[in-house]
Amino acid sequence: MNYRHAFHAGNHADALKHTVLLALLDALKRKDGPFFVLDTHAGRGRYALSAEASRKTAEAETGIGRLRGQAGLPEALRRYLDAVAAFNPEGGTEVYPGSPLLVANELRENDRLAACELQPEEAAALKSLFAHDPRVAVHARDGYAAVKALLPPRLGATKFARGLVLIDPPYEAQDAEYPLVAAALREGLQRWPNATYAVWYPVKQRRSLQPFLRKVAVLDAKSVLLAELLVRPDDSPLRLNGSGMLLLNPPWQFDRAIAPALPVLQRLLGEAGASTRLEWLRESG
Ligand code: SAM
Repeated sequence: MNYRHAFHAGNHADALKHTVLLALLDALKRKDGPFFVLDTHAGRGRYALSAEASRKTAEAETGIGRLRGQAGLPEALRRYLDAVAAFNPEGGTEVYPGSPLLVANELRENDRLAACELQPEEAAALKSLFAHDPRVAVHARDGYAAVKALLPPRLGATKFARGLVLIDPPYEAQDAEYPLVAAALREGLQRWPNATYAVWYPVKQRRSLQPFLRKVAVLDAKSVLLAELLVRPDDSPLRLNGSGMLLLNPPWQFDRAIAPALPVLQRLLGEAGASTRLEWLRESG
């Protein structure tokens, strides 16, 4: 069941996640060599926000809806809005592209995407979305197991020296998800050490997050960067107060690409007590 997520598509968490995702893809595209993306928890790929329009509190209106139409946005946010606008030629945001669709739209001829989705209906929607794109492989399977099965990526004789693993689980039982993410990161880093790993995490209560971050900070990555957007203080355990992207082996000086976007997201999407954080948990050196 994934209607809950469809309802949330385009909210503040997606704004952060997808802004960072696009900046990572841009960094990969700066070099000619082909890259590979593994999206472990891909979702259905395309969300029809118009179907949710009758809901009074459509969350996209507190996310991308507040960014759209703003002038003078930093490059990374402009990039995000343009990427979403590409799926909405009539204007507005009727269609919200999920991570696999955003990635697929950036692939060059020899780049590849493997997108995993466990929920059968979502996986079927994703398969039909990419039925005619030979660069995209959809796997109706557990994304954590795919880290073991699909990495390091190969295509015939081609090995991919560069790429990205996006881990974006639902965190339905939040504390139960952290060990799975940490194990997948450890496994992935062993199998494909040079890739960038991007993990999205919700911020409800900070207390439950700290042990996870401490664990990830000592994994065998060259560097670890964290980018967070809290739209309100993180003291209400039942609400999605904000979220973060945890980046292992991010591109060189990636903090500079993303830094200007965070205060603007805070100002446009935040309530009283909103904040951002951009911090190296480990710097390469
Ligand atoms: N990454 C997507 C995006 O940015 O548009 C959103 C993904 S959504 C937060 C999480 C998805 O993971 C849901 O569609 C859910 O059905 C799926 N899922 C849950 N457990 C999974 C697992 N073990 N492996 C793969 N997919 C899973």
